Amino acid sequence: MTVLELLNRSTSTLKNHQIENPRLNAELLLAHSLNLDREGLYRHLPSQPKEREKEVLEKLIQRRISGEPLQYLLARQEFWSIDLKVDPRVFIPRPETELLVEQGLLILSEISFKRTPSILEIGTGSGAIVIALARERKPLFLVATDISREALGLAQENAKLVGVQDQINFVNGDLFGPFCFSKENKLFDLILSNPPYLIRPEIGSLAKEVKEHEPIIALDGGEDGLECYRHLISQAPFYLREGGWLLLEIGEGQGSRVFELIEEEGSFSKPDCILDLSGIERVVKAQKK
Ligand code: SAM
Ligand code: GLN
Repeated sequence: MTVLELLNRSTSTLKNHQIENPRLNAELLLAHSLNLDREGLYRHLPSQPKEREKEVLEKLIQRRISGEPLQYLLARQEFWSIDLKVDPRVFIPRPETELLVEQGLLILSEISFKRTPSILEIGTGSGAIVIALARERKPLFLVATDISREALGLAQENAKLVGVQDQINFVNGDLFGPFCFSKENKLFDLILSNPPYLIRPEIGSLAKEVKEHEPIIALDGGEDGLECYRHLISQAPFYLREGGWLLLEIGEGQGSRVFELIEEEGSFSKPDCILDLSGIERVVKAQKK
């Protein structure tokens, strides 16, 4: 059987099991099994794969059919043009989160700092956001936290792979917990987060890929999805410099409630909201008065 025949057969199998984008999934899984990139795969269409390679592919196809996300099977996801390693320890970074990076960089470019800007990311997961910032702008004082030690382990691996490990301080802990006892109260110019924001009762109706495979702690935003925002918004003012910024990714339809939380808190100027490419309110930004 040639690579092309194997590709066609795998595509049909995935399609018959209602996997979205079956051809793309088949191409990527086949290329992975043959240790090729997609271009390489196309150059090898007439060749005969080895038995062992076919077995590797077969196992991957079965795992994909059972609902494992493609990114975990490939062990990678691109974010901000950076190749990141992902596995079930971490939430798979989503393309819309690049807007948070973009807005963070915009804020940094608009402020003229006399010192190195200090930035805190809460809930770093794979490290996607903080690693993108480290790659894009130097020098920055960067701190990235996560409540999950496992996630932090992978974030550190990713920072090493990208070569920015010396620029980021990774800290394990719950929200601002790691900083609240520190004597010199560390103040940041920018605090950003893509917290868990899904509504708990709705998690059961998500795609299998998400609800059965991604870490629940990365998704569950409490009964109304806003639990983390309440804590982040009420505590951030203690860790922000005057004029510092809070930047939050939000879920669809959460803009007005998050605005209310910010306005009720009272330490921030009028918040602003930025739409993603699909026209959905995605990032809220607020400046400490
Ligand atoms: N920043 C990554 C991204 O955008 O791809 C991951 C975002 S994921 C939606 C949320 C992350 O917040 C997870 O890595 C989760 O472990 C972490 N997290 C959840 N609750 C937390 C808490 N109370 N304190 C710190 N991190 C938390
Ligand atoms: N965007 C994610 C999803 O729809 C949720 C991310 C989050 O909770 N921060 O699965």
